[in-house]
Amino acid sequence: MCAEAVDLARAAAKEAAAPGVVGEHVAVVSEGDRVVTHYFECKDPAYRGWRWAVTVARASRAKNVTLDETVLLPGDDALLAPEWVPWSERLRPGDMGPGDLLPTEADDLRLEPGYTGDDEPPPNSPVSGELAELVESEDAELTTRPGTPRRGSIASVADELGMRRARVLSRYGLYAAADRWDEGFGAKTPMAQAAPATCVSCAFLVPLAGSLKQAFGVCANEFGPADGHVVSLSYGCGGHSEAAVMPKPPKPAPHALDTMQVDEYPLRPARDSGSVPAEPDAPSEDLGHS
Ligand code: SF4
Repeated sequence: MCAEAVDLARAAAKEAAAPGVVGEHVAVVSEGDRVVTHYFECKDPAYRGWRWAVTVARASRAKNVTLDETVLLPGDDALLAPEWVPWSERLRPGDMGPGDLLPTEADDLRLEPGYTGDDEPPPNSPVSGELAELVESEDAELTTRPGTPRRGSIASVADELGMRRARVLSRYGLYAAADRWDEGFGAKTPMAQAAPATCVSCAFLVPLAGSLKQAFGVCANEFGPADGHVVSLSYGCGGHSEAAVMPKPPKPAPHALDTMQVDEYPLRPARDSGSVPAEPDAPSEDLGHS
């Protein structure tokens, strides 16, 4: 009786759905004793592959089939929303914009405690608890103004050295950064493979501080492909400072000044030189008559 109650199920589906979106009867499934679900095609274009599921039931010894529930359920080829992913897993490099805040987890594997200001001696420290307390009490006597760094404390020394950060990169964080940088500007990139020399010998390489300087530096070649990026020392490009040094333009020889010899500069062209006709000889004077 439940399986035959298609009209009842269709009427219930039409009542729940928008007009004209309940299609053909596509399946009937037995859910248990005297409980059956009828499936109808959903013709709403926004719910492609979904089906109206109307469950009907008949009570024991009853003669009527009654309606249980009407729902819209996805079929095998239904168009579904992608599975929800937490924002921290969805975040990609470059997603952050101005004003965004990116919180880091308290137990972020990339970080580990730095100088926190707590002068608690580590468990294996040779400084005993009593000695630490003695130093504390001496500090308290010597430090009169509030806010003055305590003499000789780890925090004050770290402050002076510019090393007082609550957390620093862990070994894992260092390795992860090194892997990432090596992937972008490392020896295996096509640019490095075709480079005439590596960054380690390039004048444009600015060294890093810390342990990463063993393998990385910052490129400062304005015209290079990695300007402002951290590059592996085994990276390289055609802009290497020594790869192709421009030849200097030829310099003309200096003027030679000879002040020892006399150069003749005739005021008139020589007679046999050509175009100017020679002047007739002047009559010779008779020097025999005075
Ligand atoms: S100019 Fe090229 S070779 Fe020189 S440091 Fe930059 S990337 Fe390396």
